[in-house]
Amino acid sequence: MLNVLSIDLEEYFHPTEVQSEVNPSQWSSLPSRIEHSTRVVLDLLDRSEVKATFFVLGWVARNHPAVVREIASRGHDIGCHSYRHELVYALSPDEFRADTQLAVKTIEDACGVTPRSYRAPSYSITSESLWALDILAECGFTRDSSIYPIAHDRYGIPGFGRHAQMMQTQSGSILEVPIATVQLSPTRVAPVGGGAYLRLFPYRYTAAGIRQINVTDQQPACIYFHPWELDPDLPRLASGIVSRLRTYSGLSSVGSKIERLVNDFRFSTLADVYPLCEGKAIPAEICV
Ligand SMILES: [Zn+2]
Repeated sequence: MLNVLSIDLEEYFHPTEVQSEVNPSQWSSLPSRIEHSTRVVLDLLDRSEVKATFFVLGWVARNHPAVVREIASRGHDIGCHSYRHELVYALSPDEFRADTQLAVKTIEDACGVTPRSYRAPSYSITSESLWALDILAECGFTRDSSIYPIAHDRYGIPGFGRHAQMMQTQSGSILEVPIATVQLSPTRVAPVGGGAYLRLFPYRYTAAGIRQINVTDQQPACIYFHPWELDPDLPRLASGIVSRLRTYSGLSSVGSKIERLVNDFRFSTLADVYPLCEGKAIPAEICV
């Protein structure tokens, strides 16, 4: 079973957990770690001969276009992670459209690739902001991976389908690929996806989750991480015990866990797992 490996390409000062500490006007004056941390990720993927989808933040494409070009030239899939890393449900539809169009244009300018897959900052397509899928289809996106079907204080749609599904919007269809979860009981779903869950829990937690999705559900798992999570030396910006735990715990172990994951399971890009068939993204096994 081919699983989705996805990377949200952003700096250590972009996560929602640190945005109360750092104003966007300060971003350009903070030390950049993106070239170093992205190279660590690219070398790890090369060693295992794995391709991934990189959801690129428009701000990164504008300020570090060479990094985005290198990702594309090393054969990875280029997606979009918004321009300014603002929560979708905090924007109006017009603001979201403008942010998305700016991100697409900036990513195109950086690497010559038009992104067709989208990931919202902090999985912020929730039941209040499902209208965003309509705008993404309108902007030409064929795949979205922004919905976490769990209950969480900042994101998630509890009860949303756990596997890839075609969403019909007024602007056309778009394939939604939710972040990996496991069904613990008829009413309980646990996150597997990556990020903090990959850092905080032992390797066997994520591995058992992927195995359950692949074997029991017979579905691909969609896993994610960020380059800054492989950078134990990054400047610590988040304050508050919960934000620090969510952002910085387990940084020293995540590289070896990802290396194990990509050797123990088969991974590739969102576009490989859900290729385009007559203009629509669908599961590879039915694209014949
Ligand atoms: Zn992000």
